[in-house]
Amino acid sequence: MRLVLLGPPGAGKGTQAVRLAEHFDSADVATGDIFREQVASGTPLGRIAKAYLDSGDLVPDQVVIAMVMERISEPDCANGFVLDGFPRTVAQAEALDRRLDAAGTPLDAALFFEIEERELFRRLAGRSAALHRSDDTEQTIRHRLEVFAQKTRPLVNYYERGGALVRIDAVGDVEEVTRRILEQLGQMAGPRAAQLPPSRATEGQGST
Ligand code: ADP
Repeated sequence: MRLVLLGPPGAGKGTQAVRLAEHFDSADVATGDIFREQVASGTPLGRIAKAYLDSGDLVPDQVVIAMVMERISEPDCANGFVLDGFPRTVAQAEALDRRLDAAGTPLDAALFFEIEERELFRRLAGRSAALHRSDDTEQTIRHRLEVFAQKTRPLVNYYERGGALVRIDAVGDVEEVTRRILEQLGQMAGPRAAQLPPSRATEGQGST
């Protein structure tokens, strides 16, 4: 299964990415986590990325694209991947499409996590206190939401045009959201839907 997760910071993409990757036996590729690791270990990539992360700005497209293209060529991505935090710009989405088209392995779906801004602030304030992420201050959160609205939101139309967009109501508890995603993916038209393994999360719940 090849999925990308789209949505504002705090929408729950990271949490669902882990669960979906496990469900589909695919690799979980979270660009924010990769950058934070690189910053922590002081690699050249980390030194480039640090200022962007701290301010809540996007790391430049060429840097991110090169990193992700390399990452998805690794063997653990052969069975599919869940991309959390990439693409975040139209240029990134185009680069991903070019790569996947060339390989004859298109995306199965782009999941768009829908959630209201008020709920996001509530969640991000909680995360800031719990995880001490340096970019979870109120000012940076505001900025990241603006960056999302400006740079990433256009991807909703981009994937809608391409027919891959699946809208997910991201409000609800973690298991409920996973169940919605698996149900929506199962309802997708096309040959790929048939390849879905039975959904553990919806077992015994008589999904409609
Ligand atoms: P969020 O909670 O805001 O979704 P992430 O953990 O996904 O945060 O990303 C944290 C930061 O890493 C971003 O604010 C940005 O600086 C950088 N980053 C992650 N993915 C990308 C990307 N695809 N393009 C540019 N910058 C990125």
